[in-house]
Amino acid sequence: MPTLSTLATAAVIASVISGVVWRAGALTASGAIAALIVGAAAVAAGPAWGAFLICWFVSASLLSHVGRATKARHVVGVIAKPGARDARQVFANGLAFASCAIAAVFSPDPRIAVAAAGALAAAGADNTWATEFGTWRRADAWSLRTGRWVPAGTSGAVSTWGTLAMFAGALAYASLSLGLGLVAASAWLAVFAGGVVGATIDSLIGAWWQERRWCNHCDSGTEQQIHHCGTTTRLIGGRATIDNDLVNFAATVAGAAVAFGVAVSLLRTR
Ligand SMILES: [Zn+2]
Repeated sequence: MPTLSTLATAAVIASVISGVVWRAGALTASGAIAALIVGAAAVAAGPAWGAFLICWFVSASLLSHVGRATKARHVVGVIAKPGARDARQVFANGLAFASCAIAAVFSPDPRIAVAAAGALAAAGADNTWATEFGTWRRADAWSLRTGRWVPAGTSGAVSTWGTLAMFAGALAYASLSLGLGLVAASAWLAVFAGGVVGATIDSLIGAWWQERRWCNHCDSGTEQQIHHCGTTTRLIGGRATIDNDLVNFAATVAGAAVAFGVAVSLLRTR
């Protein structure tokens, strides 16, 4: 069981960091509160957890700043919520990790940390590495569902650059989790597998079930409810309630489950 001072320290560290990020404009107020909850859970679980979450967040922020102006021009009408992250987006990426962190506070099972790293590896490999690089390079993306070429940044579409970046991202986060001591060397492969499978599932759900919308005014596809031009968009495919945040959340749960499953079998064969 964690001591009261551990929990208090966790709350203070998480408050300071989410406050700074909120002031920098990367989070909305609700996003900052969500980040505070995820951050406090991580710090309470242990220093390696907190360090992993901070490195993950910094890498995501840095990558999203790469060629920001160029990228913004490429995706302004496509991606659902450019700009500051709200609570839904923060939890979409961080809830599975935070749940594992809370479980780790009460259980010493090392496979919980492997699952947590798998969740963030999946979120990072897909949303950060694949999307940011694919969009920045303005790589032509290929829709998994229709087999057609679609604009960079479209959900459920893959590009060569994006796919390479996804593998590189999973590799980076698996190595980071090992380097920070969050997981043992024997579990590295489990985190990598969780990252790759989770990110792939993100693309597959994004392709088949995520809602697809259309702006009549601009005559173009989008994920935005209200298009950047101000027009209310209409649903043209997918399921109305399945938005990008829900797809991201599913990907992190899949990443955690796969990482945990691989960790179980790796430990069994040793
Ligand atoms: Zn429009």
